[in-house]
Amino acid sequence: MTEDRLRAEIVARCRELDARGLNRGASGNLSARWGEVMLITPSAVAYDDLRPEMIARMPLGDETGAWEGPLKPSSEWRFHRDILRARPDVGAVVHTHAAYSTILAIARRPIPAIHYMIAAFGGPVIPCCDYARYGTAELSAAILRALGAMNGCLMANHGMLTVGPDLTRATWLAFELEALAHQYWHVLQIGGGHVLPDAEIAEVGRDFAGYGVQARKAD
Ligand code: 13P
Ligand code: ZN
Repeated sequence: MTEDRLRAEIVARCRELDARGLNRGASGNLSARWGEVMLITPSAVAYDDLRPEMIARMPLGDETGAWEGPLKPSSEWRFHRDILRARPDVGAVVHTHAAYSTILAIARRPIPAIHYMIAAFGGPVIPCCDYARYGTAELSAAILRALGAMNGCLMANHGMLTVGPDLTRATWLAFELEALAHQYWHVLQIGGGHVLPDAEIAEVGRDFAGYGVQARKAD
């Protein structure tokens, strides 16, 4: 991997999220760890117009919001930076306003274990963080509290985010989270469904270690 390839991959993943309807226009944002630096999408650029050279660079150790690039970084750089700092296992963060995840986040309904695929997120419930205004340190703190060691969470009255060792896995989890939200929303329309026991999800989680779209081997 080179920085140029990682920049190109961020753009490709943004386009994929847009094409598959998870993010529209300029909503949402993506970041990836590059050594001691975070590469992050610029603020308010439509994915159709996004080019690799527009991706901003921010030192992970910096407190002031310093950045390099032709365009200012996403307004959500704080939570991307804080997750990458807090979770050494995370190499990429994907944030979307995908429809069904956002509906459940508006209703502030965590997603229970209505499907075994929830095990890919590392636990039996996809949490929903408290509301705080976009771009704030309060939102970042609320996300870290809710996310814990999980690989995804809903964001109250806003959207959702997923994390993974790389963009491949974090993007796959974003599609899986929206699928779970879609299923749960429909189940609620028919009065609810059965929730799988925590012990079952823990066992599937162990079974699952190598399941799903995997992080790419280092190259
Ligand atoms: P940016 O365009 O600044 O990344 O903001 C989009 C967004 O989703 C804010 O939460
Ligand atoms: Zn957002």
